[in-house]
Amino acid sequence: MNLPKKLKIIEIGPRDGLQNEKKNLDTDKKIELIKQLSACGFEEIEATSFVHPKWIPNLADAEAVISQTKDLPVKLFALVPNKHGYERAIISGVHGATFVLSATDSHSLKNLNRTTEESIREIESLMSRAKQDDLLARASVSTVFGCPFEGRTNLERVLKVVNDLVKIGFERIGLCDTVGIANPDQTFEYMSKLKKEFAEIEFELHFHNTYGRGLANVYAGIQAGIYSYDSSIGGLGGCPYAPGATGNISTEDLIDMLHSMKIETGVDFNKLLKVSKMVNTYFNKPLDSQLWRTNYNSCSQQIV
Ligand code: ZN
Repeated sequence: MNLPKKLKIIEIGPRDGLQNEKKNLDTDKKIELIKQLSACGFEEIEATSFVHPKWIPNLADAEAVISQTKDLPVKLFALVPNKHGYERAIISGVHGATFVLSATDSHSLKNLNRTTEESIREIESLMSRAKQDDLLARASVSTVFGCPFEGRTNLERVLKVVNDLVKIGFERIGLCDTVGIANPDQTFEYMSKLKKEFAEIEFELHFHNTYGRGLANVYAGIQAGIYSYDSSIGGLGGCPYAPGATGNISTEDLIDMLHSMKIETGVDFNKLLKVSKMVNTYFNKPLDSQLWRTNYNSCSQQIV
């Protein structure tokens, strides 16, 4: 097996997780969550989103969250959809922006009210500003493997979108299985091809665990040479296109699997479990993490 020594995990629970949870957390709890996650040793946390609060009311307190967490020893990213979001992000003092677009026009029009091509033009101007402002930047492409409206996304289409992003200066590109319908075979095929075509780009994979394929997809991604992954504490979140679906892959399950394979993540697993317990208390519901569920059911006293 072809395994790396170390993998990078970007904790995105405070953004992708919280934005899709029915229950909204108080700002103080969000800040405490980010502080505790930072103490676990993550290099980067996606902390919030500067999408208009009308669309994501849960993250309307983005400025307050960033202003009280930006001095932690961790790079904080926030999702930035457009110019207005960019202005808010810069003022807040966030360290990095995640610029979003969709690989398919149907999802793009529904989600961002613009085509993929229009998104790329918008992001191009934001990217040049990010360079001037010394802001870290990554692109995040939705519906890379499948779209709720168009079905499986064509690989040629993904290659074109990635090529356009490379041309406008991105060195980090996140590829998202927004609906959770990728499978390991497709992940390996798409990522091997992308890695071959764009060897210099740092690809970051983002899986939702809708059909329980998330960790298998990570493993396929590793085999294709991809060493950066998004995940969410407690598997928080959901999918707006699949009511009742689970959220992102759980950080606990991912890190437990990697550590058992002797792949380092830089994350203190025992501290992480304490954060899990805190999240469980916040939401007062079982977390979407197999590891947490197993511990909770059989020996909950282990998690204190
Ligand atoms: Zn997501």
